[in-house]
Amino acid sequence: MNIAANVTTRFERRNPLSGEVASIVDAFTTLDAIAAADRAALALPAWSALGPTARRAKLSAAADLMAARSDAFIETMMSETGATEGWARFNLMLAVGLVREAAALTTQIGGEVIPSDKPGCLALSVREPAGVVLGIAPWNAPIILGTRAIATPLACGNTVVLKASELCPHTHALIASCFNDAGLGDGVVNLVTNAPEDAAEVVGALIDHPAVRRVNFTGSTKVGRIIAKRAAEHLKPVLLELGGKAPFIVLDDADLDEAVKAAAFGAFMNQGQICMSTERIIVADAIADTFVEKFQAKVATLAVGDPRGSATPLGAVIDLKTVEHVTQLVDEAIASGAVLINGGQATGVLMPAHVVDQVTPTMRLFSEESFGPVVAVVRARDEAHAVELANDTEYGLSAAVFTRDITRGLRVAKQIRSGICHINGPTVHDEPQMPFGGVKNSGYGRFGGKAGIDAFTELRWITIETQPGHYPI
Ligand code: NAD
Repeated sequence: MNIAANVTTRFERRNPLSGEVASIVDAFTTLDAIAAADRAALALPAWSALGPTARRAKLSAAADLMAARSDAFIETMMSETGATEGWARFNLMLAVGLVREAAALTTQIGGEVIPSDKPGCLALSVREPAGVVLGIAPWNAPIILGTRAIATPLACGNTVVLKASELCPHTHALIASCFNDAGLGDGVVNLVTNAPEDAAEVVGALIDHPAVRRVNFTGSTKVGRIIAKRAAEHLKPVLLELGGKAPFIVLDDADLDEAVKAAAFGAFMNQGQICMSTERIIVADAIADTFVEKFQAKVATLAVGDPRGSATPLGAVIDLKTVEHVTQLVDEAIASGAVLINGGQATGVLMPAHVVDQVTPTMRLFSEESFGPVVAVVRARDEAHAVELANDTEYGLSAAVFTRDITRGLRVAKQIRSGICHINGPTVHDEPQMPFGGVKNSGYGRFGGKAGIDAFTELRWITIETQPGHYPI
């Protein structure tokens, strides 16, 4: 598909399973990317001047179009990423919800009247659009994260540039086309697709563009740092949603059957390629053997298969690098004394669910994000040790704790340093209206609901003097 009329070079994305061409898209140069940001800047006055009801109607129309084009979304996402149909359908459903929630926010972008000590002074805080917002989204939950990068920014009256992932450019292009076809106006939503080797230059040029006033990035911590540094040169605020190593604590009084279901879902949904994926199950010694036995039985039912011909719970991972990375983490852990509970050889990018028990903090499997179908089981002496292990990570996105004692659950949740923590629920949980984001090397800033309004507006202080002034000089 051709996205920008003046772009002459194309690049291919191949299906990770078949190796066949999944999509061919434009490879923007830095000049093309700058032109996209220019178009966004030109569109800003009209879009930001639109009343909240009109803006809501257009966003709702975009949500309707996304829902109506579900077949194209599902097929494209599956062929570009190797995801299961279930994950693709969930992506579309949540993404449509994100746009509807953003549409509902247009009348919620309020300000305040603030008591002033100056007689006769009316002091207001007012939220205004920030300008052009650059959103950069990854491939792993492509419809959700591509949509999240632009929906609330648009609701707040900003125009946007969506920088697509090289691994799912057509899926991201479908999002942009729904917004454009919904009649938001020329230049309100702009898509930039680039060949992988041009990512640094294209992204750099977009961050440098003077009209770009906010950047949001969902991706790896490594690239997040590069983006934050570049934006810091211009003192531009950045919202960073980065990697994770989510802990899932099972205390000695937990409902083990519920914990097993939630842990298996959190660890292996989308083959563990979710930023909130359960990466470490931290289980109290007293119930560890029983938990592991039940967990092994559950994971043994989670077959992997080619999503094009079957409906297995696990589909393909994104590339062979992921298979190699996960295999290395598992092999190293086993060589250091950990025990493989579930596993097996991968066939190409189809990798079975791996469970490794007796993992300790010195192993890379304990500390490095796997972003693949493996979960480490770590045994804790007691509650305090479980909290210590959970916090022994550079990351802090999502976490979970299982216990029948809710007071205890809350006490543990409050001690975990993460942006998100679920008591008696899986680490993987997202809803459009929630404040989503991490701490430490998982990033900063929050998407979702009113937190998103903070992120994508400029808060201004405006006063009106209604009495003659008294000045000291
Ligand atoms: P990635 O960081 O490799 O790539 C993301 C984007 O960065 C791509 O669009 C790419 O073009 C761009 N990029 C690459 N090199 C660059 C450079 N030198 N300068 C500027 N831009 C560059 O991430 P990925 O592999 O697409 O996604 C996987 C990661 O994303 C995982 O670490 C995962 O945990 C994280 N993630 C986080 C969340 C969250 O909400 N916190 C959600 C999903 C994924």
